Amino acid sequence: MGVRRERDDAVASERRLVLVLGGTSDARQLAALLDGADPVRVVSSLAGRTKAPVLPAGESRIGGFGGVEGLTAWLRDNRAAAVVDATHPFAARISANAVAGAKAAGVPLLRLQRPGWTARDGDDWRRVASAREAADALPGIGRRVFLTTGRMETAPYARLDDLWFLLRSVEAPDGDVPRNLELVLDRGPFALDDEVALMRRHRIDVVVTKDSGGTQTAAKLDAARELGLPVVMISRPATAARECVASASEAAEWVLRVCGA
Ligand code: NAP
Repeated sequence: MGVRRERDDAVASERRLVLVLGGTSDARQLAALLDGADPVRVVSSLAGRTKAPVLPAGESRIGGFGGVEGLTAWLRDNRAAAVVDATHPFAARISANAVAGAKAAGVPLLRLQRPGWTARDGDDWRRVASAREAADALPGIGRRVFLTTGRMETAPYARLDDLWFLLRSVEAPDGDVPRNLELVLDRGPFALDDEVALMRRHRIDVVVTKDSGGTQTAAKLDAARELGLPVVMISRPATAARECVASASEAAEWVLRVCGA
């Protein structure tokens, strides 16, 4: 048993460690694609925000690294061969840390980021640059707001006492929230019929969303179009990574190339 364990450890150390910064379905898809792919050893990293995260295939670690310095040290200590930043398009701090940390540790970095959404015929989208701008715009657009931007960013809306909010998030918010608020705890994917029914039931007249992209949560946009509702669309922060791909399969190809598979 001991000999077998030593050999396993030796094999593991010959593998090329790839850190996948995750917390997204794209990251889970990438981990699944690379799970068991020789000579790669994938370690997925989660921030630890949600109490019951959906864990990716293979190894994972949970919790912050301790800024750029901590991430750089982690990459060095674990002799990482590559990093894929597959975090959410709005997770700007960890993405910036990934650029700086990978550079400091001399490790190649790839950004995996799904494309943003594009408006179609019949859409009435108002683009804004931040949650603060969304909150400023809302009183001129509607009274009954479907807020789908997550539990972490409710504070900018907390001062809007004349509006009513339906907030949907995976877990309950712990920061400031609007006074007139109903909370619905739910995790995507969401279906069009359910989104239409939810918006009708609550007499929603405006939807607020981040431009997250992807299919998991896009049904609210179809529902808003069907119901003729305006959407306040918060644009993404810019990415500083030099190499970017849009799909998990492209990221897997990059990893295998970098790891000499
Ligand atoms: P953030 O503001 O960019 O990051 C804040 C700090 O959280 C980072 O400095 C880092 O701490 C830690 N962190 C973030 N992602 C991490 C990861 N994958 N592994 C280890 N540490 C991580 O991030 P956020 O917007 O709060 O998002 C947190 C997580 O939720 C991310 O994994 C993201 O993919 C996921 N997520 C975010 C959103 C969103 O809208 N922002 C939506 C869905 C999922 P240290 O500096 O200590 O390393």
